[in-house]
Amino acid sequence: MTLRSTIDFLLYDWLASTTLTTRERFTDHTRETFDAVLDTCERIAREKYAPCNRIVDVQEPRMEGDRVVLPEATYAANRAYASSGMLSAAQDFEWGGMQLPYSVETAANAFFACASIGINSALLTSGNANLLMAHGTEQQKQVFAKKEYAGLWSGTMCLSEPQAGSSLSDLTTRAVPDLDSGLVSWDQDPLGPRYRLRGNKMWISSGDHELTENIVHLVLAKIPGPDGKLVAGTRGISLFIVPKRLVSAQGELTGERNDVALAGLNHKLGWRGTTNTLLNFGEGKYPVDGQAGAVGYLVGQPGKGLACMFHMMNEARIAIGIGAAMLGLAGYYASLDYARTRLQGRPHTGSGKDATQPQIRIIEHADVKRMLVTQKAYGEGALALALYCARLVDEQHTGDATAADEARLLLELLTPIAKSWPSEWCLEANSLAIQIHGGYGYTRDFPVEQYWRDNRLNMIHEGSHGIQALDLLGRKVLMEQGRGLTLLAARAQATMHRSAAHPALAEHGTALGAALHQVGLATASAWSTANPQQALANAVPYMQAMGHTVLAWIWLDIACCVLENDPTLEQPQNRGRVGCAQYFYRYELPKISAWLNVVASRDMTCAEFPDEGF
Ligand SMILES: Cc1cc2nc3c(=O)[nH]c(=O)nc-3n(C[C@H](O)[C@H](O)[C@H](O)COP(=O)(O)OP(=O)(O)OC[C@H]3O[C@@H](n4cnc5c(N)ncnc54)[C@H](O)[C@@H]3O)c2cc1C
Repeated sequence: MTLRSTIDFLLYDWLASTTLTTRERFTDHTRETFDAVLDTCERIAREKYAPCNRIVDVQEPRMEGDRVVLPEATYAANRAYASSGMLSAAQDFEWGGMQLPYSVETAANAFFACASIGINSALLTSGNANLLMAHGTEQQKQVFAKKEYAGLWSGTMCLSEPQAGSSLSDLTTRAVPDLDSGLVSWDQDPLGPRYRLRGNKMWISSGDHELTENIVHLVLAKIPGPDGKLVAGTRGISLFIVPKRLVSAQGELTGERNDVALAGLNHKLGWRGTTNTLLNFGEGKYPVDGQAGAVGYLVGQPGKGLACMFHMMNEARIAIGIGAAMLGLAGYYASLDYARTRLQGRPHTGSGKDATQPQIRIIEHADVKRMLVTQKAYGEGALALALYCARLVDEQHTGDATAADEARLLLELLTPIAKSWPSEWCLEANSLAIQIHGGYGYTRDFPVEQYWRDNRLNMIHEGSHGIQALDLLGRKVLMEQGRGLTLLAARAQATMHRSAAHPALAEHGTALGAALHQVGLATASAWSTANPQQALANAVPYMQAMGHTVLAWIWLDIACCVLENDPTLEQPQNRGRVGCAQYFYRYELPKISAWLNVVASRDMTCAEFPDEGF
């Protein structure tokens, strides 16, 4: 089965995405227009991305003086992506966009992630421009977002600092009104209130390169209070557009550099096709009007920067989940091919092994099959979850008031899972892909080790695993008196109800009901003492259990869809899907009991482990 057939099934059969075309925003679309986008992206990914996946890994970005050198393949892939129109796929027609549903856009982007995730930094550019469309002024949209959608300029998100990663409240980059330069007063600048920024930003993806003529940095910084001190906490954080090269009010390059200097490149384990940078803002390397300080334009209101940035981060988190899923599936496809051709060992028969018999293909060994089914269940399940969330985004924007509100709340709850579950379990899938290759998998002659290295990032960036778990158990399940969890349970109940019509799924429906009950009890028990230290001590096991329960629901829902359309399982791919559902219920879902036990008992073994005992 190919990635395309899986995406077609999930998008059209399972999520019924063509029904979106009856909505006003999407009336110009049909199944044919959706297919045309998928065809184009699949082709570009095959022709421009897949062939250079290894090239961008071995020719990692390097500095030559002030310049970043990248392989030519990265330029070609970047140009092809921009010319596909995908940078503005979801935007209005009048902005040059396609008004594509987000679920279709997400599915189309999956092809690039599967072919070469390392070069796929275009998502940062569209996410950056989408944020400006939501929070920028008309001029900021016209000058910055428009150029990004056209692929002329690219975008970054600059949150992290060397001393502030997970804890953004400790940012120290400062922004002060630019009182002494420019022809117009700082608060009358057509591009937005003008500030000077000083500080260091760490880990900035695509922070410097020459793929585009300009780079639009979206930077979080603090505006000092009247006493000159930075406001503590996240309340003091504001958001600024800081272009690498300065621009006029009409968006033309002035020819002058902004005071943003590349201090160095980080040399990464994987995902090497994208530069990762330490940027110094305002240190005086490129003074503007004779002064140190990077010129930045305020986006939105002072002190509301993090809320604006979250606009970009929620989309980014679904994209991380899909990227992790795609790497999981890339490893699955590679190890499936290998297992079908590699000969090794003989079958166990009643009379023992007969060495005179020819060797069998390793796919015939039960344990190799176990590793393949596991990868398939993790990878396709994670893809389904990501597309389900993307469909919720469409519902939030174009559904009726009730549907939109439910979608908003479900997204709040599911986003940490959509980011973290694929990051953890599709990484495990990559490890199994290496295992299937045996010693060859541990070499660089086969692609699977790179998939694992590339995927290892996903549990770290965009809010690390532990932080996502705290968000889930500490905030999301409690929001609006737990209404998100109730909504999720109702959707799972509806699936259980559907599954009752299929004898093959009866035991799964019962198991899902029991799992939901267990999650509910553990959530209540974790918070029963109202002590956050106890409640959150086992937040990651909680997220694992909740993630596995959500995936069990997704697989049951998929199995229902399959059996409703193909009751006798004529199609081999449908036998695979129902088989995956069975695998998930027999091998994976039972794990949640161990995870939830420590949550429900507020076990403090790890939290209170003595420092000196390590
Ligand atoms: C390749 C790469 C690309 C990146 N791209 C960008 C980018 O484009 N823009 C950007 O702004 N940032 C980017 N980042 C930064 C990334 O978001 C941070 O690395 C991440 O937020 C973690 O911060 P940190 O590295 O400082 O780790 P720390 O915050 O020091 O955390 C270290 C460990 O401690 C745990 N931990 C920390 N605090 C807590 C807590 N309160 N409770 C429980 N556990 C905790 C974390 O889970 C983590 O495992 C990128 C990082 C990498 C590696």
